[in-house]
Amino acid sequence: MNWTIKKALIPVTNGYATLDVQVVDGMIAAIAPNLEVIGTEVDGENKLLLPGFINAHTHSSEHWQRGVIPPLPLELWLANLYDFTPLDTEQVYLSALGTAVETLLSGGTSVVDHLVLIPGQELETIAITVRAYREIGIRAFIAPLIQDESFSAGIPSGEVEQIHDPYFRSTSETLAIIEEAVIKFHRPDEGINILVAPTGIQLCTDGLFTGCIELSNRYDLCRHSHLLETKAQEKLAQEKYGCSGVEYLNRIGYLSDRTSLAHCVWLTDADINILAETQSTVVHNPLSNLRLGSGIAPILKYRQAGVNVSFGCDGASSNDSQDLLEAIKIGSILHNVTELDYQYWITPREAVEMASLGGAKGLKIDDKIGSLSVGKQADLVLYDLTHLSLLPRTDPIGLLVLGRPHNVVSSAWVNGKQVIANGEIISINVAELRQELFNRSQWKTQQKSAGVMQIESRYRQVMGL
Ligand SMILES: [Zn+2]
Repeated sequence: MNWTIKKALIPVTNGYATLDVQVVDGMIAAIAPNLEVIGTEVDGENKLLLPGFINAHTHSSEHWQRGVIPPLPLELWLANLYDFTPLDTEQVYLSALGTAVETLLSGGTSVVDHLVLIPGQELETIAITVRAYREIGIRAFIAPLIQDESFSAGIPSGEVEQIHDPYFRSTSETLAIIEEAVIKFHRPDEGINILVAPTGIQLCTDGLFTGCIELSNRYDLCRHSHLLETKAQEKLAQEKYGCSGVEYLNRIGYLSDRTSLAHCVWLTDADINILAETQSTVVHNPLSNLRLGSGIAPILKYRQAGVNVSFGCDGASSNDSQDLLEAIKIGSILHNVTELDYQYWITPREAVEMASLGGAKGLKIDDKIGSLSVGKQADLVLYDLTHLSLLPRTDPIGLLVLGRPHNVVSSAWVNGKQVIANGEIISINVAELRQELFNRSQWKTQQKSAGVMQIESRYRQVMGL
């Protein structure tokens, strides 16, 4: 379908211009003043047009536990998360939709879902998530979260040698599941991508990493993992490999221009240089880093070293929302306290570019999306500049990033197809989704976690608490 936006405000060097945009067969065909209307006319007056953002790291199924896990560091928070009964596929479907709705309504048009798989129903979990993202029409990068070591192996041993239970599924079975998922569901042209996504050095063997590298090379897949999110993981890497986690991943060939790494809080200067040399991408998840007390990722250092950085919300029980504009705001201004020289601080325009082009680069799709350029696919968002939270009229991008905008997305398109019109999602019935989320949940308070009690004393001892 073809359409033309008339008179939208578009950022240009040194300011804004009022321009028209023609979209033909899902691609941006022209950007200029006074263009002829091709197809449907879209009123862009008093609206800001930006490329869609990428929610570059999340775990959709955590939607069901948001708000309920007490303030705990990652390792104990995870133990608490694992206490919850495994989900069923219908819940996975609903939480993927919930994640997509919040991402879209905060300016995102793509999501990287580091998807937790239901044991024994791994392919069903992926299938139902693909269905959810196809129905709502968001561009999806589904990264099935895999590991091949049991949970306790993710905590440093300290002085005492620890014995861990074997993981319930073998490495080769896990890799076979991912390969089958790639064959069945990886359809980049249709906006559905499968990634190899070993969760991180804390719970994966060499065999799982090398198997993922092999699949990534054979099927041209992006790679996605957590990396050095906590101080405990920094210690664990030293115990496990005798070097930093980054040096290890570089040595085995995991780092590349199609590798995106969530968190990257505990990296050394040498690690940062390795990320720059390998053209790896850092996904900044400021809200979960704050929520879990993981630390402040050295984002300004990454940028100075030439490392590409994008933004993620992270899973909805460590944030506990999927508001990309919030992640972009906090993820930008947080670093002003880490660097006295304000010339390095992130400007609102830079933040917008990190969230769009930065996200696209991390998924090696920056030739297709991530900027307002002729020839790129139309993943576009129109913001309503007459909304109270974007008034009075000042710098639209400045207020979008630094203010507290809400319900400001007027229209959004993914691959040229409209998913939001007049501020409402039009591809699915959101009222029904709300009803389902309500019916399938209960109000509850935080309970003492059996999982936390099991590991807490060891964690406190290893961390010197
Ligand atoms: Zn995560």
